[in-house]
Amino acid sequence: MTIRLASPLVRFSAFGLLAVVLPAAILAVLGYVSLRQWETSAELLFREQARDLASMTTEKVEMLLSHTEDEILSRIEALLRRPDFAPATLAEVAATAPLIGRLYLVDRGGRILFPAALAGEEAGVVSKLLVEISQGFWERGGRRHVVVGDQVVLAAILRARGTPLLVALSRNPEVLRREILEKTLRAVEGPTIIAVLDDRDRPVYARAPLEGAERIATASFGAALPSWRVALYHPHGMSPRAAIRRQATVFTIAFGLLLVVIVAGLVVTYRLVKRETEMARLKADFVANVSHDLKTPLSLIRMFGETLEMGRVRDEAALQEYYRVITRESERLSRLIDNVLDFSRIEGGARTYDIAPTAVESLVRETLDAFGYVLAQEGFKVEVTVPPDLPKVPMDAGAVGQALANLVDNAIKFSAERKWLGVGAHIQTGSLTLTVADKGIGIPLAELEKIFQKFYRVGRSETQGRRGSGVGLALVRHVAEAHGGRVTVESRPGEGSRFTLWLPLRREAG
Ligand code: ADP
Repeated sequence: MTIRLASPLVRFSAFGLLAVVLPAAILAVLGYVSLRQWETSAELLFREQARDLASMTTEKVEMLLSHTEDEILSRIEALLRRPDFAPATLAEVAATAPLIGRLYLVDRGGRILFPAALAGEEAGVVSKLLVEISQGFWERGGRRHVVVGDQVVLAAILRARGTPLLVALSRNPEVLRREILEKTLRAVEGPTIIAVLDDRDRPVYARAPLEGAERIATASFGAALPSWRVALYHPHGMSPRAAIRRQATVFTIAFGLLLVVIVAGLVVTYRLVKRETEMARLKADFVANVSHDLKTPLSLIRMFGETLEMGRVRDEAALQEYYRVITRESERLSRLIDNVLDFSRIEGGARTYDIAPTAVESLVRETLDAFGYVLAQEGFKVEVTVPPDLPKVPMDAGAVGQALANLVDNAIKFSAERKWLGVGAHIQTGSLTLTVADKGIGIPLAELEKIFQKFYRVGRSETQGRRGSGVGLALVRHVAEAHGGRVTVESRPGEGSRFTLWLPLRREAG
């Protein structure tokens, strides 16, 4: 009876593929697609928010600027309204309003009332300004920003005693930067960098260094600051794309780790299933082998018993032969049943050992006596080396005798043409060694470790054609270890094997 190995393992692999690899692949694809979508929509949302923030900022700057300029103009207006107004009093306003770069007062005839004297390039500024001011503006009054050269001038028509006068003021760029831009932009919160750029895209003011930063949105100012713009930047590595890339990396690593764990779990499970399947096969073989082993001696005993019962055999030598066969086969049966029973006791943890000083020589002889007939019949040359002066050694005589019998039984079973059995007992480095050697079929190197496992047999029992249950050596090892010793093997295929049971001369505590 055999259990097909392939089918559960193939099923398991198919299950692993379907239950893990397929969902993992789907998850990876979905994860990738949704990350891409997320990246796109996050980018859009970010840009939209940035645009809103930029235009809000321009409004704030413009509000503060026009508020400051309004204040200056109202102060000038108040001065102009005074009956004793003298243009020189404007100097006080110019001195106390830091935003004012230059302040001019011009009458309709183009006469410059303030300041008293103009530097060379200032005259040019005023004349350019006058060109920009239309007659209608003189009539209507009001205020407007005029670009003169590279500066913005606030021009307003105010009246002094009914006469329209042009008040023009340019801004102090440093104060504009410090008092207007910095004050407004500093208050804007968020991870983005906010900056004001001039007409040539040079930063007039920036809240943080712009190196490596990526511009995401801009918004233009109105007439108060024409050709200047508010720009928003992502600091280096802080763009939503970079953030999502980082997320994707974390996700990929976590996913990879998860896969590794799942695959490791699968491999462990696969090995467990494989081992269990192997064990199930070995157990099935064990039952078949034991049944077979029980049947052979039983049928021999029965056949010879029946023949004897019929009373047809009269020859004394033949009679003796029949009796020996019956005795030998019943011994073999007992050994087998003892092995199976002991094995089940060991498995159930119920095997106990009764250790007492034992004479080694008699133990060896008694064990070999049980095989005397088989050895003689099969033509074995037996060499026994047991020094007569061996001390008594503490051991469970029954268990060690059984272990030795298993080794001898194997040596006989696994011998081919060269029938030789060597049994020896020696004292070596604090241990008694019991050696059983043969010149039989030997054991391949790769199998040497495995043969001590329960149910394990080299090759399949059918092909090997030798009876056996696969628990003999497992028992030998258990007996050795229970005595604080061990069992070793040297073997070469085709040359023979040598098993050595090491039993310590002194029982160690525990
Ligand atoms: P079995 O009942 O098969 O003998 P054992 O546990 O005693 O079980 O041995 C396990 C396997 O080890 C055997 O099936 C055989 O393949 C191998 N083996 C044991 N002893 C020998 C030996 N003396 N020579 C060659 N092979 C051996």
